[in-house]
Amino acid sequence: MKKEPGSHSRPPRPLCAEGDNQDAVCRIENAFFDLSRPNTAPRRMLLEKLVELARTGEAFSADDLWQQLRAAHGRIGRATVFRSIEQLVESRVLDRVELSDGSHRYRVCGGSHHHHLICTMCNRVVDFRECLSAHTFDEIGRRHGFTVNDHKLTVYGTCERCLKGERKSAQDLLENSNRSME
Ligand SMILES: [Zn+2]
Ligand SMILES: [Zn+2]
Ligand SMILES: [Zn+2]
Repeated sequence: MKKEPGSHSRPPRPLCAEGDNQDAVCRIENAFFDLSRPNTAPRRMLLEKLVELARTGEAFSADDLWQQLRAAHGRIGRATVFRSIEQLVESRVLDRVELSDGSHRYRVCGGSHHHHLICTMCNRVVDFRECLSAHTFDEIGRRHGFTVNDHKLTVYGTCERCLKGERKSAQDLLENSNRSME
């Protein structure tokens, strides 16, 4: 019988149940389980924080995450946080989303096929399941001599909160802070 490395000393890999939030939490735990490095204190902090972010659906930058972890727990290296984020994007636990201004954020999303709707005023990210049919993608590809094997779809708009004027735009905030600095 083929022995899995380390299987004698580790608990079994958790099985993920269906259902959005539970699924996200489970996938985060699995991703950490699969990373070869030991379950160190910084990784545990990161896991707890990501579980929290999975619950709120909030999108974050790598720096935001590092600053928040540092504020709450003190010692945690920037490189550790950035490397972990890269690994979690590779294992598809985190989605990298492109904002309208060209910068990007990360988000813990559900595991199934989805796309993102992004508010251009407050950068809120929402996911949705609607998509074009495989036939439509094939047609687009064929028209240009491509074989289509993947796609990303991002829709930009203004969220309900911003439409109601509950949030100021990034530009307003910037202008206000510039004015107060004069
Ligand atoms: Zn997503
Ligand atoms: Zn908004
Ligand atoms: Zn799609």
